[in-house]
Amino acid sequence: MDAEKLREYLTFYQDLGFTSLYRRSAVPQSQEQAEAAPAVESPSTLIALPSLAPEGDTLERIREDIGDCKRCRLHEGRHSIVFGSGNPQARLVFVGEGPGADEDAQGFPFVGRAGQLLTQMIEGTAKREGIPIRRKDVYICNVVKCRPPENRTPEPDEMEICGQFLFRQLSAIRPKAICALGATAARALLGRKEGVTRMRGNWYKWRDLPLMVTYHPSYLLRPYNQNAKHEAWDDLKKVLHFVYD
Ligand code: URA
Repeated sequence: MDAEKLREYLTFYQDLGFTSLYRRSAVPQSQEQAEAAPAVESPSTLIALPSLAPEGDTLERIREDIGDCKRCRLHEGRHSIVFGSGNPQARLVFVGEGPGADEDAQGFPFVGRAGQLLTQMIEGTAKREGIPIRRKDVYICNVVKCRPPENRTPEPDEMEICGQFLFRQLSAIRPKAICALGATAARALLGRKEGVTRMRGNWYKWRDLPLMVTYHPSYLLRPYNQNAKHEAWDDLKKVLHFVYD
């Protein structure tokens, strides 16, 4: 791989938000440096990077690239790779954390209890606000595509490895807005570690796309979080009006 190609490659991944897929010292910062840098014969200092997101990337192509993925330890206990579901041209994308037992069994995101609540939140809020959309009109996916054991939070390396596919999904769909459900999605997309309570209800950006953080539906299912439910409904109302008005 020549220095120019390597620089293009790494800049692309930096733009996507990756910070540690590569060794920083391997990135030539300028043309002079690139020319002065020793030729990189093989990317042996790098962990395997996927090919650059091709022009005209599509969800089908991304799914093909995932293949029968064994890039991280999460493949060991999975039954299904839960890629995502909904409208590939959606104007709104919801991003959760990772599949649970129901999703792993069925192969689709948010089909368990949290998923039923998410459906109610989307369809109930849309109906009340006079916005003619159903769940099938949005796109729903997760940061990691395989179920973490015991539903634990995905580890940073798992999020980073699988995050490349999430980023490609978002880049391929290019929705008008993204809604990050919970702290893991917010961290993966924004690199911020503040709690959801602080971040929710505000607009951020993932690359150039507006992104709203709100509570994860699983959190809202806990009986003592009724107040958070009202806040999540408010957040959703804001997102739906922004996207569909
Ligand atoms: N929780 C998630 O974060 N994603 C799912 O798909 C289901 C539950």
